[in-house]
Amino acid sequence: LFVALEGGEGAGKSTQAALLRDALVAEGRTVLLTREPGATAVGAEIRRIVLDPATGELHPRTEALLYAADKAEHVDQVVRPALARGEVVVTDRYVDSSLAYQGGGRDALEGLEPMLRWATGDLRPHLTVVLDLEPGAGLSRFAERDRIEAEPPAFHARVRQAFVELAERDPEHYLVLDARDDVDTIAKLILERVREL
Ligand code: C5P
Repeated sequence: LFVALEGGEGAGKSTQAALLRDALVAEGRTVLLTREPGATAVGAEIRRIVLDPATGELHPRTEALLYAADKAEHVDQVVRPALARGEVVVTDRYVDSSLAYQGGGRDALEGLEPMLRWATGDLRPHLTVVLDLEPGAGLSRFAERDRIEAEPPAFHARVRQAFVELAERDPEHYLVLDARDDVDTIAKLILERVREL
């Protein structure tokens, strides 16, 4: 079973990913908790490049390809092997982050989806949980901003819109939750849906 957690900055993805892992482990499952970008050695290098403010501006396609390279490595080295071992894989960000940030945020959607399908060998999550949050609310949690967090509010508004539209397009594979709800309520809703799967 492959589950992705998606959403904007500070929506609580990592917290929920860890809670989901703990709940499933308590039920006797073997769970691999992972994240993008940066879960592999090459991915960590890519993460440094794309998030370092010193990198400066990148062409949206360059940025999209860097994130896609991280993804290709992540899928090949981490996700597929774990799924093949029969584990539950929970990832903090996946393809939808690219569609939302580079596609929506950077307005580079054209051709992006086929490129990402190619990069991942078309591996799709059984469920994508979108933690939906008004952009300003999440960003205010961070004092120091990375290259992406430092983007203007309009960028983050487009990212949010893109996540919601992806979910609306394919409700069977999505769960959209209000990230302002309390942590336990959100965790319970995610676990209920994952149990069904
Ligand atoms: O989830 P986390 O904060 O670790 O993500 C790292 C950063 O990478 C975030 O600032 C996020 O906005 C950005 N990102 C991105 N495009 C992606 C994936 C992540 O801009 N495809």
